[in-house]
Amino acid sequence: MAASSARDGGLSVQRWTAWALIPGMVRQVAGRLLDTSRRESSLGHYPRTRYHRPMSPPGGALVVGAGPAGLAAAACLRAQGVSFEVLEASERVGNAWFEHYERLHLHTVRDQSHLPFAPMPRSYPRYPSRDQVAAYLAWYAERFDVHPRFGQHATRIEADADAWVVTTRAGDTFRAPSVVVATGLNRVPHTPRWPGLDGCAIPSIHSRDYRTAEPFAGRRVLVVGMGNTGAEIALDLAEHGARPSLSVRGPVNIVRRDTLGRPVQLTSLLLDRLPHRLGDAVGSALQTLTVGDLSRFGIARPHVPPARQLRETGQTPVIDVGTLALVKRGAIAIFPGIERFESERAVFADGRSEAFDQIVLATGYEPAIDRLLPGVRDLLDTRGLPPLAGAGANDGLFFLGFNAYAAGGLLRSIRLDAPRIAASVASRHHGGDEGRGGDR
Ligand SMILES: Cc1cc2nc3c(=O)[nH]c(=O)nc-3n(C[C@H](O)[C@H](O)[C@H](O)COP(=O)(O)OP(=O)(O)OC[C@H]3O[C@@H](n4cnc5c(N)ncnc54)[C@H](O)[C@@H]3O)c2cc1C
Repeated sequence: MAASSARDGGLSVQRWTAWALIPGMVRQVAGRLLDTSRRESSLGHYPRTRYHRPMSPPGGALVVGAGPAGLAAAACLRAQGVSFEVLEASERVGNAWFEHYERLHLHTVRDQSHLPFAPMPRSYPRYPSRDQVAAYLAWYAERFDVHPRFGQHATRIEADADAWVVTTRAGDTFRAPSVVVATGLNRVPHTPRWPGLDGCAIPSIHSRDYRTAEPFAGRRVLVVGMGNTGAEIALDLAEHGARPSLSVRGPVNIVRRDTLGRPVQLTSLLLDRLPHRLGDAVGSALQTLTVGDLSRFGIARPHVPPARQLRETGQTPVIDVGTLALVKRGAIAIFPGIERFESERAVFADGRSEAFDQIVLATGYEPAIDRLLPGVRDLLDTRGLPPLAGAGANDGLFFLGFNAYAAGGLLRSIRLDAPRIAASVASRHHGGDEGRGGDR
């Protein structure tokens, strides 16, 4: 499929021609020299190095979204000397990380989860907390002088004769020859409908609106979906005196976050270097040894090993941080998929019916890129995910933060992909495109 081949290397084929590569590399080396990425012991002080290099004139790039991907893109564009504007729908950078549930810690290790040029502080633990990630992102924006236009929610990105045009909900229009879309995999909550849900007496929220377990103490809570979020919310509820159940629709690949002190993320990166068949076989054997057969608890294991599932479908395995122990102890009940709701009860696929006080839909998100870019649906793969760069009529469009298929976590792939995208944007702009379009 065109989208995945572009993801796998299309960017280099289309853009990294030798003539473009050489000046890009020179600029990148210059960017590295400007890099102040000595590891900080805290986020307490701001950079001593400022960027005095003259920026290219208006006509630079637009970055849509100021989460980790948008910030990484901006820092790399700055290092390449490309002028840019960042448009952010909310009122702060890294907004999602301020709003995630309180218990959340990264599942990936600190040293593989930072953005380009600036490791997380040594004082951070191996798995930084939600608040630490949010603080790091705010600090990163200051450090690289990224000052987005807040409250600018892009509703449409389309091409006109000589530029890409971004229209926002506020009614503003921004034009630029290149646009980096960094609106995230988790833009729109996915909320499935079951018969009876709308009329039933059980209140429901999406996991996006779940913050803490306190309001649910003593209550029977049905968490729908056993992805990483559902598994951790069920754990949080059990730890805070609620009575959680998990509805698990199909087989789930589960791995332990650490085995003998070694993070699974690092193991998966190591196995990813092996031929896939060998890496998958070792991964499966490790999963059998560390997680074992959970079918007696109602959790089946897919036939596809975790790494292959990620490679082929972009579905991350559940990284267990304690949920399984509580499932085995009976503190978290497991039910199969939901068939319908009746008054205050859920009826499950195996015919069981149970009363609940609250539903938490941990049913995931959609990137919904086609709603932003209705003209480029054929760029997207079967999961609705774009390649790193558009080509042909979509030349000048770039996508950061959508590579769900890579081993090692999304933050890591954002860090690795951002410099490639910025170099590619720079080669367009420094190659003679400057002056097309305008910043506004
Ligand atoms: C609960 C949770 C835990 C995670 N844990 C890890 C982990 O441990 N390790 C890891 O590697 N990855 C993890 N991820 C995945 C990923 O790294 C994060 O989701 C990360 O925040 C992605 O960054 P992003 O910039 O692509 O998207 P987001 O963080 O979602 O940022 C997108 C930004 O774009 C803005 N935006 C969206 N639409 C528009 C629009 N139309 N116009 C303007 N602005 C817009 C949003 O307001 C937001 O600020 C986790 C994800 C979740 C949901």
